[in-house]
Amino acid sequence: MQVGTESHPGRVRKVNEDAFHAGRSLLAVADGLGGYAAGEVASSLAIETLAGWQDWDDPQKALLYAFQKANHTVWQRATTDEKCAGMGTTLTAAYIKSGMLFVAHVGDSRLYLCRNGRLKSLTEDHSIVNELIKGGDLTEAEAQFHPQRNILTRALGMGPEVPVDCYRIDLQAGDRLLLCTDGLYNMVAENRIQTMLLSKATAKQIAVNLTAAANVEGGLDNITVIVAFITGEDLV
Ligand code: MG
Repeated sequence: MQVGTESHPGRVRKVNEDAFHAGRSLLAVADGLGGYAAGEVASSLAIETLAGWQDWDDPQKALLYAFQKANHTVWQRATTDEKCAGMGTTLTAAYIKSGMLFVAHVGDSRLYLCRNGRLKSLTEDHSIVNELIKGGDLTEAEAQFHPQRNILTRALGMGPEVPVDCYRIDLQAGDRLLLCTDGLYNMVAENRIQTMLLSKATAKQIAVNLTAAANVEGGLDNITVIVAFITGEDLV
């Protein structure tokens, strides 16, 4: 697997409240929510908990337990530390083992799969606008300007437990994965993301290019991007 990462505060915000991890098998992004530095605390706690998880024999189980632990850690801090009151975070993770991709997800960060030249989101946003889109009350175009487009229906740190979307997908050689926070996909259209992800550049260069594109389009939010190329070696 070839992996490239990039994280940038964007052009408007002073603090980067996103956090990420890119290890040998585990890739994850988190987008912290909350005033002052609290969002940064929440996303870092979530990533540290997940990246520090030891037992990955059963990746699906590991992800579920690690997500609950991360949720509980963030929630506990949010309810005991005044400076962190109300903080929360998204968390989207991919674990690659023996040709299988294990996904766990809460919030509105995304995991995309690019296969045979086509980009497809593997995660569903846990946001109010996505609920409205699914119910037929809002179009994707309208959603872009909806006043509540940043409001999540699910995040880590909101309560003692959180429902986690969890599933498994078979990988193929040549697949490309993209994990990102909303600072990327709210700024750069998906057809452009697809084109850039398919370019002949290295994974690192693509991550840099995607981040730069989000900044050119306004950079209104923190931007975090992880690009991974799946090779034949990942299938054994
Ligand atoms: Mg964001």
